[in-house]
Amino acid sequence: MIKLGKYFSLEELTVTHENLDNTPGVLATQKLKILVQNLLDPVREMYGFPICINSGFRTLAVNKAIGGATKPISQHTKGEAADLDCADNARLFYLIRDHFNYDQLIWEEGDNLQPDWVHVSFKAEGNRNQILKFKNKKQVA
Ligand SMILES: [Zn+2]
Repeated sequence: MIKLGKYFSLEELTVTHENLDNTPGVLATQKLKILVQNLLDPVREMYGFPICINSGFRTLAVNKAIGGATKPISQHTKGEAADLDCADNARLFYLIRDHFNYDQLIWEEGDNLQPDWVHVSFKAEGNRNQILKFKNKKQVA
């Protein structure tokens, strides 16, 4: 196991159900470390319970296979984004919104009480702190 920070490993951040190689390059690996150490680790610390990564880095082939965003290209392909799932995704969403610096924070699917998962991205520079809500893969708020 290769740790990227205190709580998250490279294996967790490169998980895929596709039967495709999903090994990040040097630059994407650096960005995953930045994502973990500046955002995911401190978020996990404040949340206080385990957080599952449904999807972190994706190669272009994996992103295409699962129907990930292409225009603009998903930040998952750069090692800048992760899809998070935990016992209380709404609490996680608001905790990130209220206490952290991020590029994009997305309430994914679910209903008004709980998202099915939380997408969050982080960049070394130029974070937009943009909040989005998606339902049926369309932006609704
Ligand atoms: Zn995502």
